[in-house]
Amino acid sequence: MIDLRSDTVTQPSAEMRSAMASAIVGDDVLGDDPTVIELERRTAEILGKKAALYTPSGTMANQIAIRLHTTPGDEVICDETAHIYNYEAGAPAVLSGVLTKLLKGERGIFSAEDVEAALRPKNDHFAPTSLVVLENTSNRGGGSVWPIENIRGIRELCRDRKIALHLDGARLWNASTAVGIAEKEYASFFDTVAVCFSKGLGAPVGSALAGDAETIALARRYRKMLGGGMRQSGIIAAGALFALESNRARILDDHQNAKLLASRIAEIPGIVLDPDSVETNIVIFAVETMTAETLRIELEKHGVRILTTGPNTLRAVTNLMVTREDIEITISAFREIFGVEVKT
Ligand SMILES: *Cc1c(COP(=O)(O)O)cnc(C)c1O
Repeated sequence: MIDLRSDTVTQPSAEMRSAMASAIVGDDVLGDDPTVIELERRTAEILGKKAALYTPSGTMANQIAIRLHTTPGDEVICDETAHIYNYEAGAPAVLSGVLTKLLKGERGIFSAEDVEAALRPKNDHFAPTSLVVLENTSNRGGGSVWPIENIRGIRELCRDRKIALHLDGARLWNASTAVGIAEKEYASFFDTVAVCFSKGLGAPVGSALAGDAETIALARRYRKMLGGGMRQSGIIAAGALFALESNRARILDDHQNAKLLASRIAEIPGIVLDPDSVETNIVIFAVETMTAETLRIELEKHGVRILTTGPNTLRAVTNLMVTREDIEITISAFREIFGVEVKT
């Protein structure tokens, strides 16, 4: 099967498995697992932050960040498509006791003016805004990349209003690859940054939260509280470290594959897709001549797996298991399903 459901479906390569098998480990809760320490050091270095914390999931990294920057009864501003709001099981309400104010951005991206309009005046009637969260790339925005001017504007506003700024950078690697802005340059605008090793980088487990030393020390306590303190976690951290060093450069292949797929299926009558909207590894499109579910089932019969995201919309995500040849096969499958002559 060609699996385009997500960039989380990747399997560790033989080389990655051997790095994991030979990892030197300790007890990370006691603070002496050298592989975890090295992963955290290297992650902090790449992000230009003082410290980083390895977490079992991106959800945990984001939710620790929300807990760090808020007090129960506060309000957090994010886009209506945000992962922290839509896909983290209601955690902001439960774990931090906060309200979420949703902005209607453009493909997940909003401006400082949008944030300013959503801030509430200082008054006992209102929940004070204490945190703004951006997502770069934006998952439900179709892998869109945040313009640096928007980030800079929001940073300045948050500084003036003493509001914390967190980046959900699960796919920050993809943003950096797409526009050539280093991860640490993006990260410099944020108090905390979450990154995933198990998406485009292809590690089996884990994410990290980066920030200043004091913030990350407190994050370590919240991770323990949530049950995320792990013992010989160097075994999995070795996979993440391998991914960080070996798989960042190849993310460009995923972007080229996504663009190829998008440009070719956009030509098929019945598919609604602007290929220029594909900036990274996510292709979101609509289908007019059948339901999304019908198309999903037909593609599965052709050996291609993708996800429906609504009655008429679907999402395909390129990843390190998917070759250019797989993309050619996928394009042929689409053409057959829609009855389009295959050009030679
Ligand atoms: C995948 C993802 C996360 C984290 O997901 P986990 O499955 O908890 O690791 C966070 N934010 C975004 C935008 C994501 O796509």
